[in-house]
Amino acid sequence: MRRISPFELLAICFLSAAVTACGTGGDGGAAEADEVAAVAELDADRMLEHVRELASDRYEGRLTGTPAAERTRRYLTRHLDKSGAVPCMPSRPQPDSLSAWEHMASAGEDTDAALVNILAVVPGEGPRIVVSAHYDHLGVRGGEVYNGADDNASGTALLLELARYVAGNPLGHEVVFAFFDYEEGGLRGSRAFVEAPCGEGEIVLNINLDMVSRSEEGVLFASGTRHWPELRPVLESVDVPDGMHLEYGHDEPGTGSDDWTFASDHAPFHRAGIPFVYFGVEDHDGYHDPSDDFEHITPAFYRAVGAFIPRVLEAFDSEFDAAQ
Ligand SMILES: [Zn+2]
Repeated sequence: MRRISPFELLAICFLSAAVTACGTGGDGGAAEADEVAAVAELDADRMLEHVRELASDRYEGRLTGTPAAERTRRYLTRHLDKSGAVPCMPSRPQPDSLSAWEHMASAGEDTDAALVNILAVVPGEGPRIVVSAHYDHLGVRGGEVYNGADDNASGTALLLELARYVAGNPLGHEVVFAFFDYEEGGLRGSRAFVEAPCGEGEIVLNINLDMVSRSEEGVLFASGTRHWPELRPVLESVDVPDGMHLEYGHDEPGTGSDDWTFASDHAPFHRAGIPFVYFGVEDHDGYHDPSDDFEHITPAFYRAVGAFIPRVLEAFDSEFDAAQ
């Protein structure tokens, strides 16, 4: 378990230029003061603040079914309340104890864990795009908090700010923002979602974000185009911001753990015949380790990813019509 000292935090704020977000401190910080409004672009300062918060010891590693997971959901839904997105209609009745954003599902017959996905939508016409990130992580083991800053507070925070961005800049397609639970327990939240999606309408694409903030080399992988080659020209049409490189791969069958096709929440979509692209970084020293902390992410790279993903979504929205 590591806590960030005030001195370290100051250093991080200086290095990451997240001065606005860091200056306010506390649960929510600068994000609390905002309101529903059109925004010009995804707010990277807020995105970094969400990671700092969700990867703090207060959330105890966000293990599915724990009070810490509930605290995580409260943080996410409080920000969704002000995002301009709306709850995605549940496919079955939900307990009164949950907010409209929260969808309880069976995690599987082999576990009693209460699985709760958080599902938001920005309405649009025609087929739907699901952008996803899992918010759970490994919890506390042997007295150490696995904060999961990169895995996957980073994708969760990006998704939260992406929902706010898209709400202010609606697309042609309807976009579902899926914060999946219990990915670490075997992609349980995404499996439950694909079996019984919220809302209505065909899903034509999944964009999955899992570990998108930590790469000293600045390399983000786009995985899945080997299976879904029609996606690649769309990705190639998007300008890659300074601060990151985009590489394709980790989707070659027969390459063992180098093949990420079934490694995260895009897998249930793929199995259901829904095209996916998965964005993530190469495994690093912090992978499933207590050292996956906020101070080890790569802020300049993460900011570039935060600038890139909205452009990817917009490119798919305008150029890719998988319904045909
Ligand atoms: Zn993950």
